[in-house]
Parts: sequence; structure tokens; C-alpha cells
Amino acid sequence: MSRTVLMNAGPWLSVPPPGYGGIENVIATLVPELRRLGVRVVLASVDTSTLPVDERFSVFPDGQFSALQRPYNQVCGLAQAHLAGVVRQLHARDDIDLVHDHVEAVGLATLAAMGPDAPPVLHTLHWDLAKHPALYGQLDGGDRVRVNGVSASQLARAPQALRDHSVGHVHLSTPLAVDADRRPRPLKGDHVVVLGRINPGKGQDVAARLARRAGFPLVLAGPVGPYHRPADLAAAGADARQNPDVRFFLDEVAPHVDGDRVRWVGTVAGRERDDLVASARAMLFPLRWEEPGGTAVVESLALGTPVVATGRGCLPELIEHGRTGLLTDDEDQLGELVLAAGPLDPQECRREAAVRFTPAVMAQRYVELYDRVGQLAAPRLLAA
Ligand code: UDP
Repeated sequence: MSRTVLMNAGPWLSVPPPGYGGIENVIATLVPELRRLGVRVVLASVDTSTLPVDERFSVFPDGQFSALQRPYNQVCGLAQAHLAGVVRQLHARDDIDLVHDHVEAVGLATLAAMGPDAPPVLHTLHWDLAKHPALYGQLDGGDRVRVNGVSASQLARAPQALRDHSVGHVHLSTPLAVDADRRPRPLKGDHVVVLGRINPGKGQDVAARLARRAGFPLVLAGPVGPYHRPADLAAAGADARQNPDVRFFLDEVAPHVDGDRVRWVGTVAGRERDDLVASARAMLFPLRWEEPGGTAVVESLALGTPVVATGRGCLPELIEHGRTGLLTDDEDQLGELVLAAGPLDPQECRREAAVRFTPAVMAQRYVELYDRVGQLAAPRLLAA
């Protein structure tokens, strides 16, 4: 008998996302593979989502992400309104076997608070789990609500109550990993790339300083706060400084951006992003936070580009030092490692991605977790 999963993508962005959208991208990658494995998917999202599914419903006509720039008291009802729609569906129908939830904090709290008649829940933790200590530290989902992480290191640092609900972790994946080892070898240039939101945790300031000191060309790709293109940030005026990531960029990164040795190219997407990464000598992650899942890390491997990084968060799980990248605990050493990464074989990186980080591998793992969550909830269902 086929299983029906309510995939709760939340109200923030359509699926697939129009540009940047980590969680929505994961869902867009996962759902086609689940359906291939015979899972029926009911998507809770916004009207503008175009991902093929068996059924969909929404509360909002389009993504509410940009509203998050407004004060809390104007936006605190958005996620709740979406979740209220999910709860209405769960009350109105009896064909949902499991809810796979991706809505930060509100999804977990609301679904845990539902009565024992609600279906089992798997809530995927896409975030830094040092957040929401009051919620995570006292979570009680009984037998019905379980969580999974996106890396072992992320879960290892989680509060005990959250870990008690854990059924393990599932690494992120990328469609770029499919047959990555069979594509023609990429032509390599000289540049190093940092791909990601520009913010202190991702360490673009460190990268820029190292590039100038160690003497390698550096391309910084990614948005600065809400600004995706250098021209948009330049046109934004002084108000833009209210955003902390804008302040970080202007104060710590921009002084090193000379348009030659260090360039900021804004957000790159599609073919442009893939070519930029595939032709790089290395992708650099000078992390100052515990990277929870690292989509850009697995994308780099899939595109045949070794990773040079501080060995924080999930990096040691994803990268094998000396084979698919170089890791260090000392950020001052990163410059030397970039220069030492040349001999690492792009084909090793792509082979690793093709084995470990494909959408099919991720979907298979989620189906195993759905089974597990169902089994753990079964005593409750049998007793009901
Ligand atoms: N990304 C992109 N263009 C950019 C910068 C980032 O497409 O200019 C994508 C990147 O390829 C990855 C995602 O944004 O798919 C970032 O996800 P990751 O898990 O690396 O970081 P997060 O922002 O979720 O912490």
C-alpha cells in the first residue's frame, strides 16, 4: 500500500525557490525521488509553487519571505496562519500517514501540540541547534514526533531533549551529483571561490584577507542581506546598513574587494554558478560557525572542486582530508592549504558526490526514517 506524506514546506518561498532558498531546494530535490519510490506527496506551500506533486494546498498566494524584514508584531502570525492551514487539513482527512515538516520552530511546536489523533511527524532540523533553547530544551513530542538532523555533528551539539527525539541525520544532496563522475573533466582556472550568504559565520572577510596575503584570485559569490547584485547594494543608500550582514560586508569585506584580486559578483545561479565553481581551483569555507549541513560543500564536490575549510560543523563528515579537500583548525593556515590543494583530483571529488550525495541516496534514507518514525509511533496507534 502506498504511503501518503504531507510535506510541509512552509509559507516563505515557492518550491522550487525563485533564487536563494536552501530548505525549498532540499524539498524540490527530495520530492521527485520520493514519488519515484512510490510515496504520495501532499505539499503544503504557497500558490506559486510549481513542483509536481500528487496534491498541494496553501494559505498564502505567494512566498512571504520578504515580509520578514518587517517588525515582529507585523509578521508573527504568518507561520502560524500557514500551520493553522496544515492543522485544518490534518483534522479534515485521514489519508496522511506521516507529516514531514520543515518549518523552523513553529512547525515543531504546533505539530507536537496536536492531540494523539494526529499522524506521526518527522521534523527536519535545517538550522543551527543552539537557537531556540527554550523550545528544544523542553520538547515533548511523545512517541509521535521525531526529528532528524542534516549532519551528525549538528545533532551532537543539540539539547538533550531534542536528541531524545532524534532518529538520526540525513546528509544534504544535490542533483549535480547524479552521474557527476561521468561528466567531462572540468577545465580549471586559477581562482578560488567562496559560495554562500555573505555573513560573519561564513567568513568571507577571512577569505579576502587570505587572498591578499597568500596571493590567489578570489571570487565571492552570494547575497549580502537582501541585495543580490553589487549595483542593488550601491543604490540602496545608508538605510541598507540596518541589516547586520550589510554592515559586516561594508566594514569587514568591502575594503578588500579591489575588483581584481578579490571580487564580489553577487548571487550567481544556474549555469553561471556551476561554471564558476567547476573552474575554481578550490572552494574555500573559512567558517566561524558550526556549519550544520553544507549544501555548497556537496555541490563543490559534485562539480569536481576540492574544498579547503576550517574543520567545523559538518565539514569533517563531508570532506576527507587529503582526498576531497584539506581541513584545518587554524584559520591562518587556510591560505597555505589553498595553495596546496592543486594536486587534489577533481575526479575523486566527483566520485565521492556520485556515491554519497545524490537525491536518490537522500530519498532512500528519508524513506528509512519514515519507516522508523511510523514504527516508533505504532504502540500509540495500536493502543488508540
Ligand atoms: N547559492 C547560490 N548562489 C549564490 C550563493 C549561494 O545558488 O550566489 C546556493 C548554494 O549553491 C547552496 C545554497 O545557496 O545551494 C547555500 O546553502 P548552504 O547549505 O551552503 O548554506 P546556508 O545558506 O543554507 O547556510
